[in-house]
Amino acid sequence: MTDLLVMKFGGTSMGSAERIKAAATLASREAARRPVLVVVSAMSKVTDLLLDTLRHAEGGDTAGIEANLAELRRRHEETCWELVSGPAQEETHRAVVSLVNEFGRIARGIEMLGERPPRAVDEALAIGERLSTVLLSAYLNSQGAAARAINAREVIVTDSVHGNATPIMGPTREKAEVLLTPLLSQGIIPIVTGFNGATADGRPTTLGRGGSDFSASILAAALNAAQLWIWTDVDGIMTADPRIVSSPAVLQEVTYREAAELAYNGAKVLHPRTLAPLIETQIPVWSKNSFAPEKSGTKIVSKVEAQPGPRAVTSMGNVALVSVEPASAEISGTRIMGRAMEALGASGAEVLAMSSSSYRQSFCFLVRKDELARAMEALEASLSLELAHGYLKPIDVDHNVGLLAVVGEGMRGTPGLAGRIFTAISRERVNIIAIAQGSSELTIAIVVARDGLDKAVRAVHSECDLGKPGG
Ligand code: ASP
Ligand code: MG
Repeated sequence: MTDLLVMKFGGTSMGSAERIKAAATLASREAARRPVLVVVSAMSKVTDLLLDTLRHAEGGDTAGIEANLAELRRRHEETCWELVSGPAQEETHRAVVSLVNEFGRIARGIEMLGERPPRAVDEALAIGERLSTVLLSAYLNSQGAAARAINAREVIVTDSVHGNATPIMGPTREKAEVLLTPLLSQGIIPIVTGFNGATADGRPTTLGRGGSDFSASILAAALNAAQLWIWTDVDGIMTADPRIVSSPAVLQEVTYREAAELAYNGAKVLHPRTLAPLIETQIPVWSKNSFAPEKSGTKIVSKVEAQPGPRAVTSMGNVALVSVEPASAEISGTRIMGRAMEALGASGAEVLAMSSSSYRQSFCFLVRKDELARAMEALEASLSLELAHGYLKPIDVDHNVGLLAVVGEGMRGTPGLAGRIFTAISRERVNIIAIAQGSSELTIAIVVARDGLDKAVRAVHSECDLGKPGG
């Protein structure tokens, strides 16, 4: 659809009746001019609450389940009372209660089983987003804008990797054409759940935490939208995290590749997989603040005017560095590396950065702390023989590290840049532990001591002059 605008509202932009009203105003204002499709997250903290409930259920903690269910119901009921009045209120309230009950049924089923089957978890977690669609569409309808709540399970077809599914675009496109295009051509705003989908044979899946951004880009690509606007609670993509650097600038424009690298390396503003479906179709994306909609936000496109060089610096604190070192020259380091990577791949843990050198072919890689146990289990199982016979030194894990990444198009071609960045970090007396540059021409990833991470970010931000407005 040539002039379609897809808008996605995140958890804080859906966080209360007042915020939902603001989202509805933004959506209906645009819908007066062109077809609009809206994708929503669950209300802020709701997915965490749902997950916590399922943990209580698995542990057989009935009181914990009931307390959380009451909280889930209260939050959405109160929003419903405040949002919709008149005859629509009762109907909306019924829809809310029925979804809360549906979640309760799954939670009690999990309690009975004493385990959390991934399929049931995905079905349960999607209820947060379904509650959001009910509230937003009811409010829009009560304001005279035609809207329809849609469960993305009916549209987004994925593989069967529960909890971190990948879309299959062909069938998704077909379903979107059949279900969504007729609504859009009648001037109805589809309000679609973010975060979830289903396999071709209908088993419910989710796209990974924070995956609603990804849902929006999948639908934008499937429907060949003109633009995608992602509404969050910050002014756009910034040159650094404002909690670390006192005056970061908002970037006016970044490329898809820059935005993807920033998201991947810890910038919270976008889900890392969001941009993938859009690169081919070149649909422009805006990251905008629903609390300050008059601000222009950041535009994400394939090419920008800016000078090549660093644009932003990001960091991640919740990571660990794993080092593998052969103890004998008799084994092939390359083969060990291959097996280690295969084991990590199968474990589902993501390797964030990797570095290798030395005649012994030792190597180290960085993983998220919450994926460390999984990664170590897989690694130790696959290398158990070499470890037992002393061909490999015991695998070393350093928990006191952080990742800093400097991102910008054309960085690899800028002489002296790495030197300046390292000098700035060492001036702060922060120890550099590992470096990865070259695998991506637009990112330098540096592992530093955890307690020096914020200092290093500030030093690099100032050395590269990133804080000046305009970007
Ligand atoms: N509600 C889901 C989460 O919290 C998806 C999202 O918000 O994007 O992870
Ligand atoms: Mg989000």
